[in-house]
Amino acid sequence: MGGLGSGRTSGGGRVTAEACRSIDVNRLRREGVLSAGWSGGWEWKRNGERISSISIRGGEDRIVLSYRSRIGSQDWQDVEEPIPIRWVPCRYGGRRPYFVCPGIVNGVACRRHVVKLYCAGRYYLCRHCYRLTHASRNEDSCDRALRRANKIRMRLGGEPGYEAMIPRRPKGMWRKTYDRLFEAVIENESRAEERLTRMAARLLDLDQRLGTNTRKPKRGYW
Ligand SMILES: [Zn+2]
Repeated sequence: MGGLGSGRTSGGGRVTAEACRSIDVNRLRREGVLSAGWSGGWEWKRNGERISSISIRGGEDRIVLSYRSRIGSQDWQDVEEPIPIRWVPCRYGGRRPYFVCPGIVNGVACRRHVVKLYCAGRYYLCRHCYRLTHASRNEDSCDRALRRANKIRMRLGGEPGYEAMIPRRPKGMWRKTYDRLFEAVIENESRAEERLTRMAARLLDLDQRLGTNTRKPKRGYW
C-alpha cells in the first residue's frame, strides 16, 4: 500500500475505530486522489497511531476503495467499492467535486451528491443511507453546531454548508476577527461531524442487533 504522508483523523476519539471512518471528497481532492492514475493508501490516526487504512485507486470520474471489512464477529471480507465522482460548476467559476453515494436501500439507488461518506457498516455510504438523520438528540446539537457555522460563513460573504470553501477575509475586517470566525466555523463543523460519527456508531450496533436477533429482511445489497 502506498503511503500518504499525512494521516487522516476522522471524528472524535470516543467511538470505535471500526465505526468512525469517513472520507471527505475535498480532502481527497487536495491530496490529488481525484486525478487519473493516483493510487495509494488512506489512513486514519488517533493519538499518532494508525487505527485503520484502506487502499484507493484514484480518478477524476470514479475512485475505487478496497479494504477488508468485518461486521461484528463475522469473517473478514474483501471489499471493492467503486464510487462515482460528479463535478459541479460553481457559481463564480471553477468546479466542485461530489461523491455520488453508491448506496442501494430497498432496491433503490441513492445517488445523492455528497461531500462525505461514512463507513458505519460494511460500505462507505452517505448519512442518509445510514439513516443518521433519525437520531434525535444528537442531531439537534449537530444541527445547532452547523447552523452556527453557517451563520458565520454567510457573515463572511460565503455560502452555507460545509461543502463550500470558507470565504477569504472580507475587505475591512480585522485579521484577528477573521481568524476567530474561521476557527469557529472549523470548530462547529468538527463538533457536528463528531456527533454524526457517534450516531453512526450507534446505528452500527442497531444493525447488528437486527441482523442477529430478529429475522427481519436485511436492507439488502448496498
Ligand atoms: Zn446514500
